[in-house]
Amino acid sequence: MELHHHSEQLVWFDLQPDGVADFISIYIWLDEKNAIIETGPACGLENIMQGIAMAGLTPEEIDWVLPTHIHLDHFGGGGHLLRELPNAQALVHPKALKHVLNPQRLWEGSRAFLGPIAEMYGEPLQVAPNRVTAVEDGTIVDLGGTQLCALHTPGHAPHHVAWVGDHDVFVGDALGLWYPGLDLGFPVTPPRYNHALALESLDRLASLDTEWLHYTHFGPRAAREGAAITQVRSEFEAWLALIAEGVATGEDAAATTKRLLTERPGLTQTEVSMGLHQAGTHLGSVRGMREWLDA
Ligand SMILES: [Zn+2]
Repeated sequence: MELHHHSEQLVWFDLQPDGVADFISIYIWLDEKNAIIETGPACGLENIMQGIAMAGLTPEEIDWVLPTHIHLDHFGGGGHLLRELPNAQALVHPKALKHVLNPQRLWEGSRAFLGPIAEMYGEPLQVAPNRVTAVEDGTIVDLGGTQLCALHTPGHAPHHVAWVGDHDVFVGDALGLWYPGLDLGFPVTPPRYNHALALESLDRLASLDTEWLHYTHFGPRAAREGAAITQVRSEFEAWLALIAEGVATGEDAAATTKRLLTERPGLTQTEVSMGLHQAGTHLGSVRGMREWLDA
């Protein structure tokens, strides 16, 4: 594993859950208080502890665990990690709190939707009530030199939060996926996807004075004075239009996914770079957008 030094205060690493590279970035903000952004799935526990050590921190020195949302690839390992970090407190969206305290339904839903990938990620552990708090929109987490602000950014999931610093934003899946090699972002919109809220969240993120968009999938992307989010927004619109056309002509979700892959620039290459996850992820996004159109 390699530690990337993004700035004096921000390091990140490729979690490589179950050996899958270039899929999940874990960020650590180093300050008077130290925060880890995202935990990855349960199967990444050993690697995340290694990443914390590479950042020069002991488990006792992590103060905050800040997931963007609680899907298995983002916080499935949260309960496991908190048992290893005696002084850390987690913050989650109010709608996520009950599922973190009792992850049974989340686990069952994930197994139904993700199938064998859920088994690979591993089952989440419940978080003790004194280790996690719900975070309202606009809440500030004071790390000393830097304050991170919780920005509710529903769309991908109703309980999604982006973490906003001075010029850095940890975007989770609010902007979809970004492939550094292609420098293109694409939607990730599994059911229950809300397109109206997703675009509102994109606009909220676009209104910030941001230099870096820190994707979970995958890595830091230069914001380029709004150009990056503009690219993402137009890709969301293009996908929805293409999927609406599929619904209108009676195409099924798999056929629409095939058409997406041929019609959207660069998208076929994501199948190669992201391996096992990717085919299912794009199909899931098509299903999410179809449900939104049906509703
Ligand atoms: Zn994700």
